[in-house]
Order: sequence, then structure tokens, then C-alpha cells
Amino acid sequence: MKKNDGLDRSLTSQWRPQTRAVRAGTWRSEHGETSEALYLTSGYTYDDAETVAARFAGEAEGMVYSRMQNPTAAMLEERIAALEGAEACRVQATGMAAMSAAMLCHLSAGDHIVAGRAAFGSCRWIVDNLLPRFGIDKTVVDARDNAAWEAAIRPNTRMFFFETPANPTMDVVDLRFVCGLARAHGITSVVDNAFATPVLQRPMEFGADVVAYSATKLMDGQGRVLAGALCASEEWITERLMPFQRNTGPILAPFNAWVVLKGLETLDLRARRQSENALAVARFVEGRGVRVLHPGLPSHPQHELAMSQMEAAGPIFALFLEGGRERAMAVLNALRLIDISNNIGDAKSLMCHPATTTHHNMGPEGRAEAGVEEGMLRLNVGLEDPQDLIEDLDQAFSLAGI
Ligand SMILES: *Cc1c(COP(=O)(O)O)cnc(C)c1O
Repeated sequence: MKKNDGLDRSLTSQWRPQTRAVRAGTWRSEHGETSEALYLTSGYTYDDAETVAARFAGEAEGMVYSRMQNPTAAMLEERIAALEGAEACRVQATGMAAMSAAMLCHLSAGDHIVAGRAAFGSCRWIVDNLLPRFGIDKTVVDARDNAAWEAAIRPNTRMFFFETPANPTMDVVDLRFVCGLARAHGITSVVDNAFATPVLQRPMEFGADVVAYSATKLMDGQGRVLAGALCASEEWITERLMPFQRNTGPILAPFNAWVVLKGLETLDLRARRQSENALAVARFVEGRGVRVLHPGLPSHPQHELAMSQMEAAGPIFALFLEGGRERAMAVLNALRLIDISNNIGDAKSLMCHPATTTHHNMGPEGRAEAGVEEGMLRLNVGLEDPQDLIEDLDQAFSLAGI
């Protein structure tokens, strides 16, 4: 196997982000293929017994088993690390495999975690239900409130975990303050950056220690595979994550890694265009007299903070209808172009009712606390012509009596 320049950090670090998204991590075989090769192999063979012994002893580089390393996954890891500006990255089977690995590889019984209140439902489940079973205490805070983070710190606090913008209320967290606070107290900050991706927001530039992804979302971007990724220092990846990942096995299949590699080539184009489309659609919805929460709109209470840490506000926003669940479902049922779907980041526009889908498991009290109202809808704006989306929403609103 021959390495090409896509693996040479001294070169790729000089490239601008769009160039990295297309080329970083490319690791060509002796055939010189243009596209990244798909290595569907579980194991590897060796020329002699000494080679494999040296690899197992960690004295020689090279692959030993696809639970530890796979060339296609390694290309994706190098490309995501280059986009993030991170020392290292490892990919996992799903976003939740990444989130759970980040917490479980780092925390032990007797530790304490502080987590943002508005979050992906499964992240809240891990913090609220799984970690306590292993003796890990938690405090859940309104992540928009800097003072709440400070007040939650205890002597045994080892991790801050939050997303920004947060699902589905689009709460924005002050990255510089919260990551800086963590660092000042020797606490590891983990930022779930699925809504923004490194194209729109790079939390490490604000002091984040670990950046976690559901690559299912904008990174794949075409609704094809599930995938996750963790970016961090070489030390955290090697010392903390890898012993956990190697031995518990939440790895990404090579085929899925290959699909996400293809997605990254167009991530920059898609993230920016979908952000523009979302703004156009959100402005229409607001103009129609419906309350909208989108960090890109001046009406969002944290608009200025969002735009000080994001290049664009992303494809997702929430809207709030009077008339509760019934009105929200009537709008969904009247759509003719936008699909009813709980996925996000897709090139197709998708809409869902969080209270009965993504945030159903939190129960009514959890939803009230997280701001998930009965009349709330979440819209992921895709790559269609925004005028077609606006016309679809307009007719659906009219049919639902709005
Ligand atoms: C989707 C999502 C996850 C979970 O990712 P999967 O790939 O579905 O496992 C975690 N966090 C956020 C913010 C998400 O949007």
C-alpha cells in the first residue's frame, strides 16, 4: 500500500477546509485508484510471524483486525480530524455509539457529569438512566445559563456534555465560556456538534476537548447510513477511547465509512446551501405569523451568540403552532413535498413532531422542562428549491387553518 499526500499532515494542514473535505485522508493503494478504496475485510495477513508479533506488541505499524483498524475507516478518521482541526479522530457505528463511548470511556463510579438539558433524547437517557446505574452522578442544567454550569461543578465533576445548537429547541451554548470553565477546573468538555458540523462550527477553536458527531446527519447528508465520530487530542483517543473501543467493539463498518467519505466531499456545499435555504423558509414561516426558533434569525434570543460562533446557522429550525398536537399533526398530514420524517441533515426536507417521536420517551414532564411543546414541529431544510418548500408549507398551513 502506498500513502499519498492525503495522509501527510504537514501538507493537509496547509490546505483550506474545502480542499481538506475532498482530499485529506486519501490513502491510495498500489493501483492508484482515484476514489477511496473500500476494504471489506475483517482480518489481515502477514508475510511472517515476527511481523504480526511486532504489530501486536505495538512495536510496528500496521493493521491486525478490523475491530482495531480498517483502511477505509482510517481514511474517514483522517478526513474528519483534518476538517475539525483535531489531532485525532475515531469513528463509531452510530452517533449514539460515539456519545456513549465518550462518556463510558472517560467516567468511573464516583464521578459526576454536568449535561445540557435540551439534548438528543438518547443522550439524555444515557445521562439520566445509564450512568447512575454505574455510580456516576449527574446534574442537568439549562445549558444557555453560564452561571448554572459554574454552580453545578463539584470536586468530582469530570465531564461537561452538551450540544449546540440543541435538539430540538435550538438552544445555543456559549462555547468559549463553558469550555473555558471546564478547562479551568480540569473538567473534560464534550460537544455534540451534529447540528453544525465542522463546516459551520469548530468547537475546538473555543476550547472544547472532545467533539462528538452523529455522522448520520449532515456528514452523510443523504440519509443513507448511520455513523458516529469522536475528535480529540491524540492522548485522549489513545489512552481513553481506544482501550474502550477496541475491547467493546462499537466500530463503523467499512462500507458505511466509505459512504460518509463520499458525503464529506460535498459537505461544505450542502451545509452552506441548506443553511441559506433554511433561512429563506424560516423567514417565510415567521412572516406567516408562526413563532420560529432558528439561530440564524434575529428573533432567536441567542442570535448574536450563535452567529459569533457559527459561520451559518444550519438547516434545522423549530416552529410553534397554536392548537397543540392536533394542529401540528394536521400540518404534517397536509404536506405534499416535505416528508414526514424524524431524520435531520438530509438533502431532502423532512419534518417531524418531536413530542410524539424523537422526544416521546422523555415523558410530558421531561418535555416541558426541555421546551418541547405539543404544537412544536422541527423542520430540516434540504437542497430543494426553497420556493417549492415555501409553497408546500403555505398550502399545508392553509389546509390546517393557519
Ligand atoms: C442524531 C443525533 C444523535 C444520534 O446519532 P445516531 O447516528 O442516530 O445514533 C446524537 N446527537 C444529536 C444532536 C443528533 O442529532
